[in-house]
Amino acid sequence: MTLIRGDITEMRVDAIVNAANSSLLGGGGVDGAIHRAAGPELLAACRTLGGCPTGEAKLTPGYNLSARFVIHTVGPVWRGGAHREDELLARCYRSCFALAREHALRSLAFPSISTGAYGFPIERAAPIALREIRQALAANAPLRVTVVLFGQRDLETYQACLEAAGRRR
Ligand code: ADP
Repeated sequence: MTLIRGDITEMRVDAIVNAANSSLLGGGGVDGAIHRAAGPELLAACRTLGGCPTGEAKLTPGYNLSARFVIHTVGPVWRGGAHREDELLARCYRSCFALAREHALRSLAFPSISTGAYGFPIERAAPIALREIRQALAANAPLRVTVVLFGQRDLETYQACLEAAGRRR
């Protein structure tokens, strides 16, 4: 797995993951950026999907993106940490990997799901994300996964978690 700082809309991969909201009808943050870069056909495709429950994921084409597909997943809104947020966040990653397997995708790029507008503390989200990615890679060797962090501090948080997990093993 690779951690980079960048804009996920520029990734040339089989699929980029969108941290969407449950309507799948567009929002701010990474969702807005993906819809702007993909063009209006993406919204038209999303309209046919009937939304998406928290923790699940749905796939569309990437349209004008360099990525062939977009996997839309809906992360949990942070409500203090005792409302199954950890479990629901883990489930997002698992749902994305299940779709990747189903569609035989070889390369995926993830944003930091739920840690923007949804308020999930990044120090708590990063170890969950990295654990789920590591487990998926162990089960699916040909897969390449990049986590694209938008800010330098976010990148440093993920890097520190990855190094800490490496030291524990
Ligand atoms: P959520 O509602 O799941 O919290 P957000 O889009 O608000 O989703 O934020 C998720 C993460 O995506 C945040 O860390 C935010 O900084 C980041 N982000 C925003 N735009 C981009 C982008 N173009 N590429 C990658 N990450 C982005």
